[in-house]
Amino acid sequence: MIKIEPIKAFSDNYIWLVTTNEGLLVVDPGDAAPVESYLKDNNMSLSNILITHHHFDHTGGVKKLSETNNNLDVYGPTNSIFDGINKELKDGDKINILGIDFSIIEVPGHTLDHIAFFAENDGNPFLFCGDTLFAGGCGRIFEGTYEQMFESLSKLSELPLNTKVYCGHEYTLSNLSFALKVDKSNNILQVRYTDCIEARNNDIPTIPSTLELEMQTNPFLRHDQKNIQECIMQKNDYLKDPNNMEIFKALREWKDNT
Ligand SMILES: [Zn+2]
Repeated sequence: MIKIEPIKAFSDNYIWLVTTNEGLLVVDPGDAAPVESYLKDNNMSLSNILITHHHFDHTGGVKKLSETNNNLDVYGPTNSIFDGINKELKDGDKINILGIDFSIIEVPGHTLDHIAFFAENDGNPFLFCGDTLFAGGCGRIFEGTYEQMFESLSKLSELPLNTKVYCGHEYTLSNLSFALKVDKSNNILQVRYTDCIEARNNDIPTIPSTLELEMQTNPFLRHDQKNIQECIMQKNDYLKDPNNMEIFKALREWKDNT
């Protein structure tokens, strides 16, 4: 039995808390305080931390949690500049943590050290993808190249469609309002946007989504769609016969400037 819950941190981060019969782990604890108060309230202790990438809002709580929880295993990317990782992971690694079989997928672009944790989980798959794939969007490209981010998202889009997608931030509403600019006629997107407004008005997280919903509504996975290509070409008249990578790049640049 696996239970996954969000712990809110800062203004829009989610620290994912995973409980199994064997113990408890958190994903990307940017802040120790909300995790510690959850553990105290529920009389629990932490045994593992998973880190997707080095940014402070995903790692800032690791030191404090390591001090207050003995023998904590901190799993994260092997090439990270964050120095709090004691179990290093690389692309293709398969590890069992608290009874969950995870496959590691390297997804550089947002940062160079970014990894995602995928669990097949007997046909109920889930993914922790940090700041690479967001609900309705994708991460900004800070360290890598557009090509790397494009490739990373392509890898994630090959996972099973019923994969639950747990990303690191509640950015969905602004992502979907951008998506509507480039994919106006998409009925599923319009419904998702309405659902998202309602959820946020009631302070309900919009995460997780599913990979299927992302494939249907996330423009950064839909660069092969004719209407999106036409919209991008209209906005960028220097693009004559763009390939999917160029469409992706133009989408990302547009979003960066909105
Ligand atoms: Zn980040």
